[in-house]
Amino acid sequence: MLTNLQARDVETLVHPYTNLVAVRETGPLILERGKGVWVHDVDGKPYLEGMAGLWCTALGYGNEELVEAAAAQMRKLPFTHIFGGKSHDPAIELAEKLKEMAPVPISKVFFTSSGSEANDTQMKLVWYMNNALGRPKKKKIISRMRAYHGVTIASASLTGLAGNHNDFDLPIAGVRHTTCPHYYRLAEAGETEEDFATRLAADLEALIIAEGPETVAAFIAEPVLGAGGVIVPPKSYYPKIEAVLKKYDVFFIGDEVITGFGRLGTAFGCEALEMKPNSISIAKALSSAYQPIGGVMIPEDMYQAMLQESSKLGSFGHGYTYSGHPVAAAVAVKTLEIYERESIFERVRAKIPQFDARRAALEDHPLVGEARGAGLVGAVELVADKKTKQQFDPKLGLAAKCVAFCQEEGLILRNVFGDAITICPPLVISPAEIDELFDRLTRALDKTL
Ligand code: PLP
Repeated sequence: MLTNLQARDVETLVHPYTNLVAVRETGPLILERGKGVWVHDVDGKPYLEGMAGLWCTALGYGNEELVEAAAAQMRKLPFTHIFGGKSHDPAIELAEKLKEMAPVPISKVFFTSSGSEANDTQMKLVWYMNNALGRPKKKKIISRMRAYHGVTIASASLTGLAGNHNDFDLPIAGVRHTTCPHYYRLAEAGETEEDFATRLAADLEALIIAEGPETVAAFIAEPVLGAGGVIVPPKSYYPKIEAVLKKYDVFFIGDEVITGFGRLGTAFGCEALEMKPNSISIAKALSSAYQPIGGVMIPEDMYQAMLQESSKLGSFGHGYTYSGHPVAAAVAVKTLEIYERESIFERVRAKIPQFDARRAALEDHPLVGEARGAGLVGAVELVADKKTKQQFDPKLGLAAKCVAFCQEEGLILRNVFGDAITICPPLVISPAEIDELFDRLTRALDKTL
């Protein structure tokens, strides 16, 4: 029986990434307020927000400094655009700060309102750059199976999940997907992690050669694949991949939408994984999700190509009304200030051993085949047979059931890609709350048995 609010909800809202039939029966969980890592539903029941919303509320809920930063900017100047030579202080300050923090040489920042828009922009910039460089055929983009890069036509095409393509007539032409670096599932018998990484780099090279290197413009990768099930590639994977990219002059786009700003205990995920992308997409924790904002961090050579194209065409013909929105930018500036002042990334590093140990211990549970992760992000994959890694019949929806038991236990987690359950708490989670999270998850797994 739906509550009044739930009934009004299903009569009016289309929910993203939701079984639109099932939600009409069950109604959504309606949340009302939050403090720290806790959110409360409309009946006052507290839940530990084990997914930081959607991998984004890094500083948790109820951060008054962020509220104040937004309110102050709204009072001063709630909106001005940065088209055609206009600008404002928060956007300038934010771009300066991001340049300072960048893990690879970055020349300029282009702002968007989301991660999808950032990756959409990335694709357009690569095309624009290659036109400027006089190589109009070099346009294909290679992504990976199980990657998640967003939902616009371009970024959903880059996404390597069938659920994002089916019946949307995606992916678009010119996008290819190479092997996912998931050792647990895809390693061959007796293959070491090193051999696995070598084979994946060879797969990428074979794909580039098959397509024709003169047609392949870029490769895009999340340091740790997030929504595809939190997959951490073997240590030597990125250096081997990068050697292939260099050989064929393929631009490397890093998608740091989840891993940016401390998730792996470093400012950017690529620093933790020896990955050296040419450009970087950011969003989510950039503002701790208090405002929608994302961006592309652009290297000098790409910027030079943009200058050249813009002077040829008379204008750089790309930008969103809300590119560099002053309120979002002011909140992001404050977020970065808090990360620094409160040593949030160092404090994440200090919490990783406990998080790792509690996560790894879940592999002793009879339902868990792999409990994987890095930093403060992880996933457990449920299997019918731990030895053979045989999966459960998808019709059982076992991980979805477990997530529902988590909710009963007052813990919000997420089921992605088959039987994976993802964990990504706010970075400000305390050691006691980490224990609470894993205790509640263990109880939910026991109920699922
Ligand atoms: N890239 C990655 C790695 C993501 O995880 C996401 C969202 O989860 C996106 C891009 C898309 O971001 P948004 O949902 O803000 O469009």
